[in-house]
Amino acid sequence: RQNKKNRALEIYGLVRDVFRFWLSKEVGLSAVQYLEKRNLSQEVRETFQLGYSLPGWDHLVRFLNSKDISSEELAKLGLIQAKETGRYFDRFRDRIMFPIWDTQGRVVGFGGRTLGDDTPKYLNSPEGEYFNKGQLLYGLHIARRGIREQGFAVLMEGYLDVVSTYQHGVTNAVASLGTAFTREQGKLLMNYTHQAVVAYDADEAGIKAAIRASEILQELGCQVRIASIPEYKDPDEFIQRHGLAGWSKIIDAALPLVHFKLTQAVKKVGLKNSTAKRSILQEVLPNLAAVASPLELEEAVRYTATVLQLNWETVLAEIKAYKANNR
Ligand code: ATP
Ligand code: MN
Ligand code: MN
Ligand code: MN
Repeated sequence: RQNKKNRALEIYGLVRDVFRFWLSKEVGLSAVQYLEKRNLSQEVRETFQLGYSLPGWDHLVRFLNSKDISSEELAKLGLIQAKETGRYFDRFRDRIMFPIWDTQGRVVGFGGRTLGDDTPKYLNSPEGEYFNKGQLLYGLHIARRGIREQGFAVLMEGYLDVVSTYQHGVTNAVASLGTAFTREQGKLLMNYTHQAVVAYDADEAGIKAAIRASEILQELGCQVRIASIPEYKDPDEFIQRHGLAGWSKIIDAALPLVHFKLTQAVKKVGLKNSTAKRSILQEVLPNLAAVASPLELEEAVRYTATVLQLNWETVLAEIKAYKANNR
């Protein structure tokens, strides 16, 4: 079993190296041009071991077959797929390849981005024995050090956000892998820190997902805040325009979950009448009830009361009632 795992890790590492080799050669020119267009430096490409999968159907299969790695084995690792004819073809073709590592920095899968706008924009390794999207965080083994030094982690949506912000000096960021953030990912992150800032994309889907991720982290006992990057799509776009100094301001201005939700809700429904107030209060009650730190709770209660123009005693009473009903 251990042997089998070692063999799989060895193959993933070899495949990463093949993708890097292709990126470094003439055949990788279009990919290099794409990375240049995205303003990703040579240095950061190397830190994140970016590569390129060739267009054409079976470059990877043929190369690895020539190294005595069987197609059946590669298929099990999600690197190639069988056609009805029984012939195999590469899963990743003509894509920028992002290796995905476990916490020890061993490659366990890949994400691949198209150079254009064909779909899917990103193609990941399929779920498998070693690649479980819900249990990995992109870039964690690289960000470990930054997280320790800065005392908190930043959670982002995209691989590219992590890579691009790293280039500008943000060394404590990780990304979930294209699916909803899970409890397992939360626990994994909390092996390294109990403080996080969620910096997802600024669109509606991103805001929703940020709230959900924050709720999961908070339930696990993590102190969490949500960053807003209005007017920009995502951290990558933001940092290219405003650099590390601008980024620090975004982090400083990140709001605790309850504040963030209140701000969003008031923006959406306003405070027209007591029905609106009530519905907003209902929305944040579960979050208020989940705040573990007394200091944080006091702040959240005061803030909620101010925003909703209520007495803080009223808010506190509502929290008590909520807790009693949800025991
Ligand atoms: P780019 O700047 O290159 O467009 P992005 O990271 O901003 O990349 P998003 O569309 O915001 O791209 O997606 C965020 C993340 O969600 C990606 O990094 C990827 O992990 C995942 N993702 C996006 N599209 C898909 C897809 N079609 N299938 C699977 N995962 C996807
Ligand atoms: Mn997005
Ligand atoms: Mn982007
Ligand atoms: Mn994005």
